[in-house]
Amino acid sequence: MTIAIINPATGETVRTFADHSDAEVEARLELADRSFPTWRKTSFATRAEIVRRIGDVLEADIEEAARTMTIEMGKPIEQARGEVRKTAGGFRYFADHAERLLVDEEVPGTAAKKRSFVTHQPIGTVLAVMPWNFPLWQVGRFAAPALMLGNTALLKHASNVPQTALYLEEACLRAGMPEGVFQTLLIGSDKVEGLLRDPRVKAATLTGSEAAGRSVAAVAGSEIKKTVLELGGSDPFIVMPSADMARAVEVGVKARVQNNGQSCIAAKRFILHEDIAEEYEERFSAAMAKLVVGDPLESSTDVGPLATLSGRDEVADQVADAVSKGARVLCGGKMIDGPGWYYPPTVVAGLTEQMRIYREEVFGPVASMFTVGSIDEAIALANDSDFGLGSNAWTEDPGEQQRFIDELEAGLVFINWMVTSYYDLPFGGIKRSGFGRELSSPGVKEFANTKTVWID
Ligand code: NAP
Repeated sequence: MTIAIINPATGETVRTFADHSDAEVEARLELADRSFPTWRKTSFATRAEIVRRIGDVLEADIEEAARTMTIEMGKPIEQARGEVRKTAGGFRYFADHAERLLVDEEVPGTAAKKRSFVTHQPIGTVLAVMPWNFPLWQVGRFAAPALMLGNTALLKHASNVPQTALYLEEACLRAGMPEGVFQTLLIGSDKVEGLLRDPRVKAATLTGSEAAGRSVAAVAGSEIKKTVLELGGSDPFIVMPSADMARAVEVGVKARVQNNGQSCIAAKRFILHEDIAEEYEERFSAAMAKLVVGDPLESSTDVGPLATLSGRDEVADQVADAVSKGARVLCGGKMIDGPGWYYPPTVVAGLTEQMRIYREEVFGPVASMFTVGSIDEAIALANDSDFGLGSNAWTEDPGEQQRFIDELEAGLVFINWMVTSYYDLPFGGIKRSGFGRELSSPGVKEFANTKTVWID
């Protein structure tokens, strides 16, 4: 893929970028490796000061950073501003809390004469392969904890968000980060294997599709290197009879269409108890139909274009396949004429296992509706998926809540709220949604050497 900014709202190429040459990549890799010993010995206080300042730089640049993302991948500008604020907050959160999260853990009661404890040490340069859908936040949630731990980072961002990738490196330098601690590589995915096999790269994290995750984990595995994989999802959004209907509709719409429907943790499969299914479908479809689709640079826009032409075509194909096999379209479903890669908020019902949409992740503003007769059926349907990232369940019944907590196969269960990433809660999936955790205490330790110490 060429490294270029192609505005999804118009389809026009804004700017192309030359890939870093092999010599440039080598120089950056060498610099990352050389910077590690100094950075790891830099005190927590100094690291925190710099990492906190990255948050300040982002916040000060909010308009420019938000606009860059919107032009690169089409997210509504108000959501882009929110992403800048969230990323800035993430850098500040780990600046303030990493030392506490990484404190040595005393283990009393062993046979050690003096002391036994666990200490968390950085491992070196980590390669981050990142997606375009949250161009700042995905990187921030990896980088803030990894840098606070004392690792150095190389970012290979998605080929359609090069400006954001370069901006991140520049923001780190402006915040006072020593050269080489955080660097961007402008390279295609064909260069990832070589980096993973280089002994100076100690581990990798990938957020993206299953295919990319499989490839990175296979190469890293053959080199015995750790990976964290944050892959796709097809999160269920279960609504039971006792749910607050108005809120479940309002939050359900937001959970489906956030980021123009291109979020791994978007609610994708709405599983409705038969007692409330008809009312929910009606109210939900009416709310989806009211959303404003248009120029993502306009503050009034709810849903902008999809990030890529192929992504838009894929969503249209998935809906067409379902319709050809008997699905009912409750709203949307028709491609929007004109320039840009728009697809309307769409609701489909009457879905069967023969339809692609039943098993595949739909990366666009399309909600799939299912009706079930009991909580057992709801859980069985929710779990009938290769994915296991997030899950949402709406019920006021404590017994039902406990069953969802116990039985949903997912890395996250949100009761009466939409799945969201928070700095102080671990984030990640099971099954084909990946492994490892980002954020909070597990996240800050993913790229650590958890060292056991015994003093006799
Ligand atoms: P993608 O095509 O897999 O791309 C993600 C990154 O991987 C890009 O930097 C891409 O580089 C690179 N890449 C692609 N193929 C590769 C390969 N064979 N080897 C090494 N690197 C490779 O995914 P996407 O379309 O950008 O993102 C959408 C997917 O990400 C969805 O499935 C979504 O659910 C998932 N996602 C998951 C999470 C989570 O936290 N679980 C968060 C956000 C998104 P190029 O751009 O150069 O191809």
